[in-house]
Amino acid sequence: MLQDTTEILSAIVARVRSADPVNSRSWFDELAVLDFSGGLLEIGCPDAVKAQFLQDHCQATFTQSALSVTGHLVTVHFAVAGKPSAPRKVAEPPFKLHPDYTFDNFVVGPCNRLAHASCVAVSHALGSTYNPLFLYGSVGLGKTHLLHAICHEVLRGNQAAAIQFLSCESFMNRFISAIEQGTVAEFQRQLRTVDLLIIDDIQFLREREQSQEEFFHTFNALYNNHKQIILTADSSPSDLSVEDRLISRFKWGLVARLDPPGYETRVAIVQKKAGLRGLAISDEIAQFVARQVQTNIRELEGALTILYATANTTGQPLTLAVAQQALGHAQPETQRHITITHIIAAVTGYYNLRAADLQSKRRSQSIALPRQICMYLARNLTRHSLEEIGGHLGGRDHSTVLHACEKITQLIESDPAIRSQLAELTDRIQQAS
Ligand code: ADP
Ligand code: MG
Repeated sequence: MLQDTTEILSAIVARVRSADPVNSRSWFDELAVLDFSGGLLEIGCPDAVKAQFLQDHCQATFTQSALSVTGHLVTVHFAVAGKPSAPRKVAEPPFKLHPDYTFDNFVVGPCNRLAHASCVAVSHALGSTYNPLFLYGSVGLGKTHLLHAICHEVLRGNQAAAIQFLSCESFMNRFISAIEQGTVAEFQRQLRTVDLLIIDDIQFLREREQSQEEFFHTFNALYNNHKQIILTADSSPSDLSVEDRLISRFKWGLVARLDPPGYETRVAIVQKKAGLRGLAISDEIAQFVARQVQTNIRELEGALTILYATANTTGQPLTLAVAQQALGHAQPETQRHITITHIIAAVTGYYNLRAADLQSKRRSQSIALPRQICMYLARNLTRHSLEEIGGHLGGRDHSTVLHACEKITQLIESDPAIRSQLAELTDRIQQAS
C-alpha cells in the first residue's frame, strides 16, 4: 500500500519510465510532491526548463500513471520546486476511476452484449450516437464498471474532455448544499458545461421532487447542446418512480438491459478477475467457482478473494479439492445462508470483542480493524447493500463501508497476517451458517 506522497510519486515515476522511455530523464528522481489535494497533484521540478519539458512532453504519461497508481483521476501540474504555481484553479470535485474497470477487462456475453456495444459506441462519439444512453439491470451486473470504462476511453482519446461522473446521491447532495450555500448557479454551470454527464443509480431520485426538477433542467440543457448523458438504474425507465417527463426523456436514446451472466460468461469473468490479481486458476476451478455463484458478479469476486486468501495462507497449490474446501463443497450459493449475525459472531469471537464494540463509535485500531473486516466479509459473503451493512454496524453510512472494503482488499494483498485471519474467519462463518 502506498503510504505517502513520496511513495506515490516514485510509483508514478517508475510507471512513466516504463511507459515513456524516450522522454525519461535521470533527474526525474529529483522531483518532489509540492501538493496533493482536491484532485490536483503538483510536482516540483529542479528548475523552470525542466518543468516546461515535463509540461510539454510528459503530461499525458504522468496523468495516466497517476491514475493507475492512485485510482483517482488527478490533474498533474508541474512547477518549480519551492514556488507553487500562481493561480490555482479551483479543482472540480475529482471522481475516482477504478483502473481495472476498462473495456478490456469487461467480459462480453449474451447477457451484456448490447450494453457493452452501446457504451463503446458512445465513448467514441459523445452526444451523437445514443443520447441519452440508459443502462439498467440488477446489482452487480457491471453497470458501474461500464461507466468507468467509458470514462477511461473518452479520456484516452481526449485528456481534456469535460466529464462529470456522479452517483445519484452525490448529485442530490451537491444540489442541496448549493441551495444552502446560495451557489445554485455555479452548480448548474458545472453540470451544464460538460461534454459528458454520468449519473449512476438514478433510481434514487424517487421521492426527491426538487432534485428531479433540477435534473430535468440539467438534462434539457445538455441534450439541447448535443452533450452526452449516460444514466444507470436498477430497473427500466418505465418502472422508475420518477416524474413522467423524466421517464419519457430516459427513453429518447438507447435503453440497454444487463442480464445475469450465463455459465460460460461467468467462467470467463472468473478467469479474467483471477488474471488481474495474478492468481493462477485452472479451468476446472474457474468452472467450479462459476457453478457456486450464479447471480451477482460481485459475489463471484468474493469467492475468488477467499480462494486467493486460502492459497496464500496454506501455501498449497490451488487444487480443486482446496477450492471446494475453501468455498464449501456441495453448498452452492442458494443453499448457504450466511447472515451478518454469523459474521459478527465469528469476528467478535475471533478478536475477543463484544458486538457492541463493533457498533460503537470507538476508533481504536483494535476495534476499527475488526469492524472493517466485518464490513468486508458482509459485503463479500452476503447480499446486503452497503447501507444495510453500515446499519448493522452502528449506523455507518455507505461510503464508510465502501472505504472499509477497499482497505481490507488492499490489506489482503499486502499483509499475510490479515490474509490468514480472513481465511480463518471465512472458514468459521461457513461452518456456522
Ligand atoms: P453494478 O454497478 O451493476 O452493481 P458493478 O459494475 O459494480 O455492478 O460490477 C460488480 C463487479 O462485477 C465489478 O467488480 C465488475 O468489475 C464486475 N463485473 C461485472 N460485469 C462484468 C463483466 N462482464 N466482466 C468483468 N467484470 C464484470
Ligand atoms: Mg453500480
